[in-house]
Amino acid sequence: MNCDSTSVAKSEDEPPNPAIEPGGIVSVEKISDISKLDEIELKNIFEKYPVRITNYYFSLIKEKDDGVYKQCIPSVEEISDRFGEEDPLNEEPEHQVRQGVPSLLTHRYPDRVLFRISNSCAMYCRFCTRKRKVGDANKNPTWKEIVKALMYIQEHVEIRDVILSGGDPLMLPDRTLDKILAAVYSIISKRENGIIRIGTRIPVVLPQRITKELCDILKKYHPIYINTHFNHPNEITAESKRACGMLADSGIPVGNQTVLLRGVNDNPETMKKLMQKLVSIRVRPYYIYQCDPVKGANHFRTKVEKGLEIYKSLRGHTSGLCVPHFVIDAPGGGGKIPLLPEYVTEINNDKVVMKNYEGKEFEYVQAD
Ligand SMILES: *Cc1c(COP(=O)(O)O)cnc(C)c1O
Ligand code: SF4
Repeated sequence: MNCDSTSVAKSEDEPPNPAIEPGGIVSVEKISDISKLDEIELKNIFEKYPVRITNYYFSLIKEKDDGVYKQCIPSVEEISDRFGEEDPLNEEPEHQVRQGVPSLLTHRYPDRVLFRISNSCAMYCRFCTRKRKVGDANKNPTWKEIVKALMYIQEHVEIRDVILSGGDPLMLPDRTLDKILAAVYSIISKRENGIIRIGTRIPVVLPQRITKELCDILKKYHPIYINTHFNHPNEITAESKRACGMLADSGIPVGNQTVLLRGVNDNPETMKKLMQKLVSIRVRPYYIYQCDPVKGANHFRTKVEKGLEIYKSLRGHTSGLCVPHFVIDAPGGGGKIPLLPEYVTEINNDKVVMKNYEGKEFEYVQAD
């Protein structure tokens, strides 16, 4: 066992959390004022799910019930929800198929793992798949758990792609992040085609966190990729543009994962605008997710046909760069499954009959 990962623990006697404080959080009174919830309802929600909104993100609300409002302001539907599961994607260790996977890792695919290094976020999204656990200070990762995860990655030589996730990894202080990245890098950089990815909503909800100091840390560990999470065109501002630009200037390809959300972005016009705006700030759309059937977030779900309709409205109608994959993260831990509208109408030994984006039919003659 390479001792880089154990030295992480030895050199560090303070916990990786508490995470940084977002600095400027909307008060409970203000949330209560705007949310239409009475005191008891609000108390019930606060007891069950985390609530936190940065002043910055709150300032993006243009009117009540708009796409930004719905993502951050709690609603009574969260606690009246009877359908859905706490852990629909079977991420928790007791739900995993592989044996001996440490608590901070999800090892679902052959060559990559999800590594949850933080349990807090700057803003708690009302639709979050992990709302069962994010924001719970009792579930913050410890150095001991982090070292266990690093040892697993070290032992499993088939892993070449480590995805730092959470919560939000960029909620960790620079020093802590630097230390964890160095440890992951010391393993992954020796593997063929090794890469590190970071999944973060910070450029959307707290773009001020993207500083030169942070970029200087990240770029020591190339190849490093970031996937961020914009869901609505109003989230693209001068600040978020600056944050994504700084990451791109540091040589980091920035992608975006959007969740299809009822009342937020579930129409072709909003989605097309969002995708085009993303590409204009140098962020490449990567996935649109069908909303997971997670308890407390079912009011955000749409029919799957809506996602297919949106996909159809993008492909061919705008730059291919603005067209992400539409996927369902299969409940029960099946992983991401891509869905496509029916472009192929017939396929046999002689030919393929297919429809283009305008619905016109074309044929391709098969090879012998
Ligand atoms: C989404 C996910 C990944 C990464 O999937 P890609 O399609 O490679 O982006 C890896 N592991 C888990 C558990 C995931 O949910
Ligand atoms: S940033 Fe991600 S992990 Fe955090 S609350 Fe939002 S969706 Fe959940």
